[in-house]
Amino acid sequence: MTLAGARTWDALVIGAGPAGARAAQQLSAAGASTLLLEKQSLPRYKACGGGVPARTLLLLDDLDIAPVSEGHVDTIDVSRFGQPQFRKKSERPLAWMVMRDRFDQFLTDLAAESGASVRDATTVQSIVEEDAFYEVETSTGAVRARHVLAADGTTGLTARWLGIDSAPTRSAAYEVEIAAPRDALDHWHQAANVDVGYRPWGYGWVFPKEGKLSVGVVTAPKRGRTIRKQTDCYLSRLGLADADVLHVQGHPIRYRRSIREPVARGRALLLGDAAGLADEFTAEGIAYAVHSANLAADAVLDSNNPAAVYTESINQHIQPELNAARTISRLYYWCVTTWPWLALRTSKHINYLWRAFFRVMRGDSTYVDELARLPQSGLATAVLSGH
Ligand SMILES: Cc1cc2nc3c(=O)[nH]c(=O)nc-3n(C[C@H](O)[C@H](O)[C@H](O)COP(=O)(O)OP(=O)(O)OC[C@H]3O[C@@H](n4cnc5c(N)ncnc54)[C@H](O)[C@@H]3O)c2cc1C
Repeated sequence: MTLAGARTWDALVIGAGPAGARAAQQLSAAGASTLLLEKQSLPRYKACGGGVPARTLLLLDDLDIAPVSEGHVDTIDVSRFGQPQFRKKSERPLAWMVMRDRFDQFLTDLAAESGASVRDATTVQSIVEEDAFYEVETSTGAVRARHVLAADGTTGLTARWLGIDSAPTRSAAYEVEIAAPRDALDHWHQAANVDVGYRPWGYGWVFPKEGKLSVGVVTAPKRGRTIRKQTDCYLSRLGLADADVLHVQGHPIRYRRSIREPVARGRALLLGDAAGLADEFTAEGIAYAVHSANLAADAVLDSNNPAAVYTESINQHIQPELNAARTISRLYYWCVTTWPWLALRTSKHINYLWRAFFRVMRGDSTYVDELARLPQSGLATAVLSGH
């Protein structure tokens, strides 16, 4: 490395997804010199349903995402292996629909407007920790920074380079974007399909966008080899097998299950997917990515011991939600695969469960609070302890 006399950044952020872009914006807005590096050319495609839970906007200080929104969803349409079951409607939007290239570029532009330097097509290749800073080799030259915020996603290598064991892969997801016919777009207008019955757990989804649909399946990693076939079957059952495919991509998802899985060390912090901050009920991670970015920026700006402060914040504010989502996931997927008709009839008629889910999506409540309200039946206890 040739760093003699080189600038030392207050913070180097790796990865321009929602976690990295938001962290760079928060840090630079507070006056920290911040460099945001992204290995791909921006705007970049990201395999994702592009459903931004409404609560995410609260974490983004009520950001108006209208310039990049492709509509919203307020209705959940439940099916089992493509067979329609019932629909449930929320009185307010549950999620905003985005294409991730535009949404992530929007957040990255906000970071740049706040003063962050953004370099795309720049891959971080190695990191060495020195006493007071990190020396970082990239594909466009060496960089030095006091703090490293690794927001490099589920397949990022920063955690490994820094000796921070991050969460293991626990699900596979596969997404197809199709140019859908008019009648399908009308059918899914403001409605998301959730297709259940997948073993050992998982679901299929249809999310509506402008002129297209995002269709995909998320399931256990051991089903990863057949996930493409499952998605094709799902498309056939929806009558969409002949639609023009615009994009296809599979991607792993990791879930942090325990406070023993580290998220930081020294002045290096893992954010979003890099730390396994996605939930096991819906497999969504955008809200957690943004939330972790807020917490990471606070820890860097306010503390001499960012690793300890950040770890404590994650354990206090995010991990309980991930744990509660996992508990709900076990109960729900066990019921829906063991007694599908009973589970579907029950969930069709018990509106309380839907209202609870909608409150969580909108940010009016949390999984922790909703789980605490559920009656502790012997069945639930048996399922949760034995499954
Ligand atoms: C198929 C699928 C569907 C999903 N659908 C949804 C959904 O509808 N709603 C939802 O909330 N969540 C969804 N998720 C999860 C969501 O996509 C992630 O949780 C979210 O993208 C996490 O954001 P992030 O900023 O942590 O990481 P990412 O968005 O993955 O960004 C990481 C960035 O780091 C860059 N990078 C990696 N390595 C380097 C390097 N060495 N140097 C420089 N840059 C690097 C990458 O190019 C990338 O741009 C889905 C996931 C999958 C796989």
